Amino acid sequence: MNYRVLLYYHYTTIENPELFSKEHLAACKEIGLKGRILVANEGINGTVSGTVEQTNAYMEMMKADPVFNGIVFKIDEAEGHAFKKMHVRPRPELVNLGLGEDVNPLELTGRHLSPEDFLAEMQKEDTVVLDVRNTYEYDVGHFRGAIRPDVETFRDTPEWVRENRHLFEGKNVLTYCTGGIRCEKFSGWMKREGFGDVGQLHGGVATYGKDEKTKGQLWDGQMYVFDERLTVPINQVEHVVVGRDHFDGEPCERYINCANPECNKQILASEENEAKHLGGCTIECTKHERNRYIVRHNLSQEQVTAAIEVLEAETVK
Ligand SMILES: [Zn+2]
Repeated sequence: MNYRVLLYYHYTTIENPELFSKEHLAACKEIGLKGRILVANEGINGTVSGTVEQTNAYMEMMKADPVFNGIVFKIDEAEGHAFKKMHVRPRPELVNLGLGEDVNPLELTGRHLSPEDFLAEMQKEDTVVLDVRNTYEYDVGHFRGAIRPDVETFRDTPEWVRENRHLFEGKNVLTYCTGGIRCEKFSGWMKREGFGDVGQLHGGVATYGKDEKTKGQLWDGQMYVFDERLTVPINQVEHVVVGRDHFDGEPCERYINCANPECNKQILASEENEAKHLGGCTIECTKHERNRYIVRHNLSQEQVTAAIEVLEAETVK
C-alpha cells in the first residue's frame, strides 16, 4: 500500500480565506494530491489522499507555515486515492452549528481527553457519551451506549440538546466525532450553555481507532468517512455489526446512494435488496425516470416493469 489518506484540522486565524484557498489549491495540485479542504477565517479542515511522498511533501509544507503551528495529521494507509478531484473551498465557518453567536474553540472548549482517558471515563457512572455527528454516520457505527441526537443534520444538534437537557444535566458529558473538529466547537457551546463538565475525545474516533492502548474498544460497527472509502474499521478487538439494512432491517454495513439522482440519500442495503429495489430508497425513487441503477445495469423495460410489480404487490400486502 503506497498511498495514504490524511485527515486534519487546525483552528487558527486565516486572514483572507479566498486568496488562501486559491494559492493552497495550486500548491496541492502541484504536489499531486486529491481531496477536499475547507478554509475559513477560523482555520482549515481537510481530507486529502496521495502517495507516501506526496502526503509527506504536504505535511512538511504545512508544518513549515507558522500559521499552522501544532497541526496534527491523522494518517491512514490506503490502496489508492480516496478522491477523484482536488478542491479547496473558502467557507464562512469550518463547522456550521447554526448558532446566532458562534463559538471560538481557541477561547472556549471542553476538556481534551486522550483515547485512554476517554475509554476510562466513558465507563464511569454518571457519565453520558454524546455522538455529535449526523445520524447516518451514527447508524453504521458508534460508541456502545452513546446518545444519538434525533436530528437531520449536525446544525440541529444544539436545539436538540436544549430540548433534552434532562439527559445531560448533572452528568459528566463526553462528546466525540470523526476527527475532533466538531467537538472543539460543540463542547465549547455546551459549556457556554451551562453544562458543567464537558470532555471531548481529542483527535476524534480516527485517532482512537489507531491508539495502541485502547485498540478501538467499545466502538461498535464501522466509522463513516467523507471520502470514497465510505467506512473504515475502528475496533481492533471485536467487530459488532450495528448497521441495519434500510429495507429488511438485517445487519448490514454496505452503504449505497439512492439511485434517484434527485434524492441521492445514503442508505445501508445488501446487494440483493439494492437489486430488488433497483437502487431506489422508496418506490417513488425506484420509478424515477433517471434511475441510475437501471442505466448502470442496462435493464430492459420488461425487467424494470417486472421489478416494480413485485415491489407494488408487496406494498399492498
Ligand atoms: Zn431516494
